[in-house]
Amino acid sequence: MGEFDLIARFFTRTPRAGGPVRLGVGDDCALLQASPGTQLAISSDMLVEGRHFLSTVDPARLGHKALAVNLSDLAACGATPVAFTLALALPRADARWLEPFAQGLLALADAHGCELIGGDTTQGPLNLCITVMGEVPVVDGRSQALLRSGARPGDDLYVSGTLGDARLALEVFRGTQSLPGPAFEAARARMECPTPRVALGQALRGIASAAADISDGLVGDLGHILRRSGVGASIDAERALSLLAARSGPEKLGLDDDTALGLVLAGGDDYELVFTAPAAAREAVQAASRNSNTPVTRIGRIEKQPGLRLLDARGQLMERRDESFDHFK
Ligand code: ADP
Ligand code: MG
Repeated sequence: MGEFDLIARFFTRTPRAGGPVRLGVGDDCALLQASPGTQLAISSDMLVEGRHFLSTVDPARLGHKALAVNLSDLAACGATPVAFTLALALPRADARWLEPFAQGLLALADAHGCELIGGDTTQGPLNLCITVMGEVPVVDGRSQALLRSGARPGDDLYVSGTLGDARLALEVFRGTQSLPGPAFEAARARMECPTPRVALGQALRGIASAAADISDGLVGDLGHILRRSGVGASIDAERALSLLAARSGPEKLGLDDDTALGLVLAGGDDYELVFTAPAAAREAVQAASRNSNTPVTRIGRIEKQPGLRLLDARGQLMERRDESFDHFK
């Protein structure tokens, strides 16, 4: 199977009639018709074997994850997904790998109406780079995009879904933690098959004051919001602890508070949203959560004093040093 057979067989589909894609895979460029009154939101994410995923991962899950991490960035901006490109380096043209990979990738793409419009394919060590494009409405000349820079002192601080379980699964693979079978499978699904919070991001347009998605850990990604907004925050440790799904049962799976907090605060690979909203918008945030079928937890508050503080059940400051993931550290 040559390069062009491979593209034709696995990655070429007819664009949806009447949709924004006027020309898809096959020419030098794809052509998109932007909707009037919108801005394009664009983001890229690369996945490298050994760095972002294990060589043994199920190819269908890898296809899903490669697009999911990109859709998560659109979600964080409140954008509606439109299209994506796929740049792929493959060691060999193996149909037994490409078939499930394309299936996992395109199933998630279809679920979000996000069309594959082009890319590049080359031989080399396994490496995937996706660029997603989405739309954000512009109302009265103002973009409705959610940015990292809008958090204000007094705002509530929220997180969607659960945090720390993906990292817990990674630690089981590394042998530093162990879990009973079903709990491991649940955590592993969080690591290999994340759910991008696209519907929640769109529902938060005009409600959230700032948002980011959590890829490198809560401390790090919330840190981007705090720095961009020129504010600080405090987090309620009890509420943060409640975010680790693996520990939600009565037996807590042998995870002590200290370990669990580390996973929640600095685990990474969660692809949940961290966002802020004025206290007056609590009802609206709950409605956005219900309408998008996405749980959200209020975990703290934005403050004037820079930096991030963790408070125990009595409101006392806790001493911790949790750091976000950094590829070059
Ligand atoms: P060029 O030589 O102009 O870079 P290519 O010959 O590499 O174009 O690709 C031919 C067509 O196939 C282009 O439309 C390109 O966007 C598309 N394409 C290449 N690789 C992929 C891929 N992995 N997924 C989707 N489309 C692809
Ligand atoms: Mg090319």
